[in-house]
Amino acid sequence: MNYPIFYNDSYVVPGGGLETVRKADEVARRILEQFPDIKLVSPEPATVEQLLLAHTAEYIEAFLSGEPYYVASAALGEWSEEVVASVLASTGGVIEAALTALESGKSGSLSSGLHHAASDHGAGFCTINGLAIAALVALQNGAKSVGILDVDAHCGGGTFDILGNNPLIRIGDVSTNGYDAWRSGQERHKLEITTDPDTYLDVVAEMLEHIGSVDLLLLNAGMDPAEGGSAGSTRGFTSELLEQRELLVAEWCERTNTPVAFVLAGGYVGSNLTLGGVADLHMHTVAAIAGATINR
Ligand SMILES: [Zn+2]
Repeated sequence: MNYPIFYNDSYVVPGGGLETVRKADEVARRILEQFPDIKLVSPEPATVEQLLLAHTAEYIEAFLSGEPYYVASAALGEWSEEVVASVLASTGGVIEAALTALESGKSGSLSSGLHHAASDHGAGFCTINGLAIAALVALQNGAKSVGILDVDAHCGGGTFDILGNNPLIRIGDVSTNGYDAWRSGQERHKLEITTDPDTYLDVVAEMLEHIGSVDLLLLNAGMDPAEGGSAGSTRGFTSELLEQRELLVAEWCERTNTPVAFVLAGGYVGSNLTLGGVADLHMHTVAAIAGATINR
């Protein structure tokens, strides 16, 4: 089924150490091979004005200039012009995926490294919070509400830091690991941490019901709960279980006719998971969204 996914070569940092800036081209190659109808579209890089929707001027100055280095490199452990180009491209991709989904029902971006970035600092491989920026740009472009379903293994404390007070946004976070946990006094946001593979799908389904009716769902589709990986890897979280999770989300979007835009998020090579294996896991998201019919 034909739908646009945003990606270009700048997403990948030549010689980059982390999967966050390394794996997108493996996923892109699989899309071209397995889904010839899906169009890979090159996004415009995010603008400084867009970055400032979610981040402080001081942090953006550091990110763009590389000074001070410890601030600019805090997320990825490295900073270079290529890192800046990668982050700007992949942030622009999330924004365009969100706007495309609003218009035509579904889209995605092969972006990673988003949900731990807070307003004034990067952390946990996340430099700029493209989810938060995309949600805010969507609200500027006609969406009256945005839901964020974060099923990365880790909690999305950066997203909550930036968007928690926005009454038009509902955050649902299902994690298998307590890193970057957050607590909200607002009923519309919810975080569940579970390591039980037997009830995981029920928790995700309940979280979708909690998010409820929104004009756009942003899906932070981390594959890092997967067995055999490293950061976030959780016993019993098989490839089949994560495939079922993506089908459940896609079916919910179809049933409720909710436009959806996904990003890759976490997914890390480990003792029993290669980079190709990580890319295969992310294809569950691409395939599940391909199978969903969302009318606009
Ligand atoms: Zn993660």
